[in-house]
Amino acid sequence: MSPRKISKKAAKTTKKQSKPVHKPEPPRAEIGIFGGTGLYEIEGIHDLKEVRLKTPWGDPSDEFILGILEGHRVAFLSRHGRGHRFSPSEINYRANVYGFKMLGVDRLISVNSVGSLREDIRPRDIVFADQFIDKTKRDSTFFGEGCVAHISLGDPVCPQLSRHCHKVAVSLGIRSRLGATYVCMEGPAFSTRAESKMHRIWGGDLIGMTAATEAKLFREAEICYTTMNLATDYDTWRPDDEGVTVGMIFENLRENISKAKAVIRKALANLPPHDDAACHCRRVLSAAVVTAAHCVPPATRKKLALFVPEYRIGK
Ligand SMILES: [Zn+2]
Repeated sequence: MSPRKISKKAAKTTKKQSKPVHKPEPPRAEIGIFGGTGLYEIEGIHDLKEVRLKTPWGDPSDEFILGILEGHRVAFLSRHGRGHRFSPSEINYRANVYGFKMLGVDRLISVNSVGSLREDIRPRDIVFADQFIDKTKRDSTFFGEGCVAHISLGDPVCPQLSRHCHKVAVSLGIRSRLGATYVCMEGPAFSTRAESKMHRIWGGDLIGMTAATEAKLFREAEICYTTMNLATDYDTWRPDDEGVTVGMIFENLRENISKAKAVIRKALANLPPHDDAACHCRRVLSAAVVTAAHCVPPATRKKLALFVPEYRIGK
């Protein structure tokens, strides 16, 4: 071996040794806030930093914004990406939810804009949906590929987190309703008048394009989830209305975002400790996985190890 070659090898070894033995732990958060661009620009937040995560399901919609708000470590994510780049059908829902789980989030407040299907839910009201009718055909499960799980979804949102946020909204003088049925459609076009009337006949109170998919995945991830729905319009069921337009939605949304920020801030300032007896969000998987552990392929075990502890390496 020539001296030159030895020297190259030595240099390589030195470079190798200078790398840390263990990868650094990703920054942690306890509360997730999931919503539109700019939501993290909230009074009182500090120690902001951006974190880009890679997940087995691909890239989340954007970097996660971590910070401290009212004494809690929070993680924000813009579901459409900053600049609103992904349509409801194009969002990588699984990567987004997985990212929150990677950060250690165990309670999450989602902010979604919706149309109202009821006269008494007015634009600029805040509604905490507790039921969904899902018309979409998206990937809305982490399971499959050799591991089958059927989670319980009778009560698809966290009752204690929803109740708390609703109480906070009322205390701030906001017109707010606890409990509503959210019809989730694929979009991106809004409903026809016939569809809008049909959704009302089905018992729908709200129409939106994102929350049902998210609720299913957050439940599989055993994260307490509530959806704070900002009503922006009456959809197209009212015969004398001109029908919903993007301009109308964004005008009401701007007003509602400031209300949403006020609710989030106060909800965190007064957040009671999690009561395990008051919801079952964090213990759904043990009874849901039906595939025998020894039948689950190694690649699937690896993807699901964050959710199913016995699939973790070494167990
Ligand atoms: Zn819960």
